[in-house]
Amino acid sequence: MHELLSQIKGLLIDVDGVLYNDTEPIPGAPEALRMLSKERIPFRLVTNTSMKSRHSLWQKLKRMGFDVSEEEIFSTVSAAVGYLESQKASSYMPVLTEDAASEFEGIPMDEVSPDFVVVGDLGEAWDFNVLNKAFRALMSGARLVALQKNRYWKRKDGLALDAGPFVTALEYASGQEAVVTGKPNPLFFNAALRDLGLPPSKTAMLGDDIEIDVTGAQKLGIIGVLVCSGKCLPGDAEKGSPDFVLGSLADLL
Ligand SMILES: [Mg+2]
Repeated sequence: MHELLSQIKGLLIDVDGVLYNDTEPIPGAPEALRMLSKERIPFRLVTNTSMKSRHSLWQKLKRMGFDVSEEEIFSTVSAAVGYLESQKASSYMPVLTEDAASEFEGIPMDEVSPDFVVVGDLGEAWDFNVLNKAFRALMSGARLVALQKNRYWKRKDGLALDAGPFVTALEYASGQEAVVTGKPNPLFFNAALRDLGLPPSKTAMLGDDIEIDVTGAQKLGIIGVLVCSGKCLPGDAEKGSPDFVLGSLADLL
């Protein structure tokens, strides 16, 4: 175990459930990031947060006292914009908050027969009409892109459905499998690793989602660390085989 620890030269850090829960920073997390910078341990934030543009997420983190630059954030919203550009998308239908959709401003919107339907979390704005409009576009030939397929997240008032259950409904109805741009897509992890300039074996991924963060990263040879400050439930560690388990990011201090 000690050997594994001494291998770690850089970190990939999840945001929701590791840096904050909903609107509250996790105690000690801002100090932990500052300590990493002071000790010159490079890190990147890798997040499936799909309700905010990368810029708004960065502002939220700054307001909470996190000392990070916008470039250190790898957001699935930005990854989806990159994916649509790589596919030379001529149009897309947003199933996104206005804030997240603002990052797609270079790509024309089409609410009827788009090239792509792009789905993120809508929180309480999910309803039949939103899903059915997306379903109809898929049945007319649009391809399905999901920012993430997380099952649930932890809100102030308790656990809440994330985008995954709604993406799965669209997949089931249309018979089409979504391209997921965020974690655990290897392209997403690899983009962050490349930016960090470290091989997977020298990098640890810290997250509160055993499947998506920990097992997802381990599949690429990244060291997987489960951080139980977010939605992590008793027994989650047994759903995978994390290399380490931390109570919170503050344990790094
Ligand atoms: Mg998380």
